[in-house]
Parts: sequence; C-alpha cells; structure tokens
Amino acid sequence: MKNGEDATNGETGKLISEVNDIRKSIGPRSSFRNPEFLKELATKIKSTQHLCKQPIVQCFIKDVMAFDGKSRLINTKNYINKGSAGNIFSLFDSSYFPSLSLEYLTYKKLPVNNYLRQKYPSHTMPVNIEHMSKGFESRIVVALFPENHIDHLQCNDDSIFYFINKFVERHKRITQKMIGAIVSKDAFQLVRKANDAAIEKASTYWVWLHEYHHRHGDMPITEYLSIKSPKPLAGLEELRVDVSGMLVCLNDKNLPADDAALAYEFILSERLLRYAVEGIPKPNYDAVSSQVLFNYLLENGGISLQEGIIHLAPNLPHFLEMFLEEIKKIECLIHQETPEDVQKRLLDFVNKYTVFDQEINDYKHIPFFEEVKKQLNV
Ligand SMILES: [Zn+2]
Repeated sequence: MKNGEDATNGETGKLISEVNDIRKSIGPRSSFRNPEFLKELATKIKSTQHLCKQPIVQCFIKDVMAFDGKSRLINTKNYINKGSAGNIFSLFDSSYFPSLSLEYLTYKKLPVNNYLRQKYPSHTMPVNIEHMSKGFESRIVVALFPENHIDHLQCNDDSIFYFINKFVERHKRITQKMIGAIVSKDAFQLVRKANDAAIEKASTYWVWLHEYHHRHGDMPITEYLSIKSPKPLAGLEELRVDVSGMLVCLNDKNLPADDAALAYEFILSERLLRYAVEGIPKPNYDAVSSQVLFNYLLENGGISLQEGIIHLAPNLPHFLEMFLEEIKKIECLIHQETPEDVQKRLLDFVNKYTVFDQEINDYKHIPFFEEVKKQLNV
C-alpha cells in the first residue's frame, strides 16, 4: 500500500495529491449531502489539473450536480461496479468510518476460487489497495460498502469491497500474537504456519462466504436489516454468517481441501480472538459477537480456559453446528411470529452469553481479554 507521498511522482500520485488538497478545505460531514455544498465541491474538482480528466471523476461531478438528497450516485456507482479501471472515487459519509470524506483509491483485484464463486454467489470484491488518499489510510477502514457513499443507498448488485492487504496486516499484528501467547500449542496449526499469500487467500474465502451468508437464511440482509441493526443483533448476525462460513469450509468437499482447512482456522481465530480485544474499551458489534462465541463455546465445552491458555476441543465443529442450529431455529419463527417478537428472542439469546452493564448502558468485556490486551499490547 502506498500513500500519496510515496507516489507523488506518478500519475496516480498527482491525482491523490489533488484529492488530499481538496480534502483539507472540505468542512464537516454534516454538509456533505447539501446540494449547494456539492455544487461548490464540483467546481473545485473541475478546476484541478489532473483529477477532472478522470472518467470516474466526471461521473461523480455529473451525479453531485444533480443530487437532491434522495438520488443515487448512479454514474459513479455503475462505474465502480464495473470495476474495469481498478479505481474508486467518491464522497463518503459513514459514521463507522469517520476518516472517509472525498477519497481516491486504486486497487488490484484478487482471484477467487471458481467453485466458491459459483456455488456461493456474492457481490464481494476482495482487493489489495495500491494507492490511496488520506481517509483510506485509517486502519479501521478495511472494507467499503455501497451505503458509505453520500447517497446512503445499497442496491443488490453493488460491489462490496474488502481491502485484503489490511486484513493480512491486522492478522499479523494482532491475531498471530494472541495465538502465540494464549492458545495451546496444538491449536491453529495451519494458521501458525501460513505465509502472507496463504493468509491473503484465506481472507478472500472469509469475506466471500461472509457476504454470501448475509443474503441467505430465513432473515437475510437487506430485508431484515432494521431488525438486526441494534448492536447486539448486528453482532449476532456477524457471528451467524461467520459460523456458517466456517462450516462450509469444514463440510464442502468440493473446495480445495488445504485452502478450506486453513480458511476455517483463520475465520475461527479472527472471530474468537482478535475481535475480542479490538473492541476494548468501547465494545462494538464485532466485540459483542466474539463474546457470544467465546462464552457459548466455553459453557458448552467447545473450548476450555486453563491457567490463561485457551484449549480447543477436538469436536469443536460440533458445537459450531449446534450454535447455528439454535440461531436458525429462532430465525425460522419469522414465518409465524412478528419481527419484534423474533427480535426479542434473538436479543435474549445474546444476553444469555454476554454481560450487560446497566450503569454504563453497554456490554462488558470478558475480563480475560481485557488482561490479554494489556499484556500483549495489542
Ligand atoms: Zn458483515
């Protein structure tokens, strides 16, 4: 990954410098959807030397000149969905990616196993970032969703970008450190030995299956997005799709066996370990999902904790299947009960495996992981 400074001599470097310059004077996010602001922004962009000549930038100018607060950035998004030029340019407004504003990015598409692509179709775009403007440099921006653009809209055919080189970096910086320090030596044998290329491939399996499973089941996203948007239920949904992905890797014998076995270990290590520390001190929905997984497995015997070391039971996959069955059983009730009743059942399930602190009105972290975060400085 290279930022603007590294690449200032090339053509892309010039584009990124121009974007970074405009970003400096862009003002607060609250004005991003204001038609007057957008017209001024378009004028600024038109006066650049290099940026204004880019086809994607011309699409964007056309869209924002016509933006009325409700319209879709249709030309920009069509261009991005085609993906043929390997670049992204737009204005973003996302509460969970606050660093994003006006941004430019170039990327390289990563290969996806053909069978995976056909059997589990999804609009996932696993890519490696090549050059990027300031906002994308933030560590937390590991993906880009269609609703992150200022139109806040998501269509079924829109591409969902995952920045895989950030996944690899984060795995090495946090997850590998945790595996080395707090997991018994016999566990995660494949992940421990995996090189960057193997982790990159495992990440593409993960994100591909993740998006596929969001769209499947009795209560798929986007149909039930509003029911599943409160933090505990968003966390449970993340866990539902990742456990589903792990079970595909374990059970689908048509996948390349070595790749699937590594992907299973990789998804488990990320979900069970990394998200458990990353959300500290403020638990995000991924942190809640880790707490549910950890406590569910601990209570049922899928894992055990002995003198600060996590041991995985040989039949751990059985407990993942059990977990998924319990969630499926609840979600299936959507065909008989009101969405609010099913939502309450899902919430009760999360609350069984988490500790909610009434005083601070938020979920409490697992003390073990608070200690781990401090000790390992992750
Ligand atoms: Zn998700």
